[in-house]
Amino acid sequence: MKEKLLGKTPEELKAVAQAAGLPSFAGKQLAQWMYEKRAKSFDEMTNISKAGREKLAELFELGVEAPLGLAESSDGTKKYLFPASEFAVEAVMIPDEERKTLCVSSQAGCKMGCKFCMTGRQGFHGNLTPAQILNQFISVDESAELTNAVFMGMGEPLDNTDNVLRAIEVLTAPWGFAWSPKRVTLSTIGVLPSLRRYLDESRCHLAISIHNPFPDERLELMPVQKAWPVAEVIRMLKEYDWTAQRRVSFEYTMFAGWNDDRRHADALARLLRDIECRVNLIRFHKIPDFPYECASPRAMEAFRDRLNSLGVTCTIRASRGEDILAACGMLAGKHNN
Ligand code: SF4
Repeated sequence: MKEKLLGKTPEELKAVAQAAGLPSFAGKQLAQWMYEKRAKSFDEMTNISKAGREKLAELFELGVEAPLGLAESSDGTKKYLFPASEFAVEAVMIPDEERKTLCVSSQAGCKMGCKFCMTGRQGFHGNLTPAQILNQFISVDESAELTNAVFMGMGEPLDNTDNVLRAIEVLTAPWGFAWSPKRVTLSTIGVLPSLRRYLDESRCHLAISIHNPFPDERLELMPVQKAWPVAEVIRMLKEYDWTAQRRVSFEYTMFAGWNDDRRHADALARLLRDIECRVNLIRFHKIPDFPYECASPRAMEAFRDRLNSLGVTCTIRASRGEDILAACGMLAGKHNN
């Protein structure tokens, strides 16, 4: 199999150029074509000689792969399926006023086994490479119009830290997509060792999926609680030296009768005391063979108001793409079956 170039730095691309018999400055040209102009083939790179392009194509691949399929919601949300070895992964484009956010996958399936998650149910089928992560940005129809990225798709990004950090480097480097780190958010269930590394090595925003403030209850649906209790994650965040300005948020999916009452709101507010953060309440999209339903709109509003009254900024996230198998992993699961 040929080596893929998406995800390589200009320094690494210099070696690629030399391997193809090109001058080393062609490495910089490659980076410009791939990241700035989002070229989909070597043929487009017209300031590289024809012979050079042919040699590059003989030795390497860009790593650009077209989507396998697409589902479009009546609200404009688009869910793309991309190939990842034998598996398919999802990338979701969410339009919102002048923003176009891409929610990207970092793994094919997931090892973390959260019980409310379709991706978790599909088991683990491999880490996405930097090329497979970046291809999601390059191969959606809206590539040139994307304004934001969230690592909230299939997989736990901090279980594939090297590749995710490399993709983030390409997104935010001046030689890459040149996005401000403020346009990128990574969401994790709290893989503690890699979380510290993410904070040290990037300047992007952070979202922690918390879902329940009580350790024993959280463990019922999230096995990660055993290895990395959320209280330890929060302790680390409180002790962290926040020199880079970034947003920290907590994701809280609401299940009727499991985590949606005042007892939980009060415990959550206590847990998050002294952290500069916000809480996003998320509607649960029903999945098959799972006992809980989404909390009622009334319960969600009461929960939000309670947190706000206790000094924790809280909002209810608008649900998007309800009509296109909205729960993460639903469409890919259907395809993979
Ligand atoms: Fe993995 Fe995230 Fe699903 Fe948990 S919620 S199983 S971490 S993809």
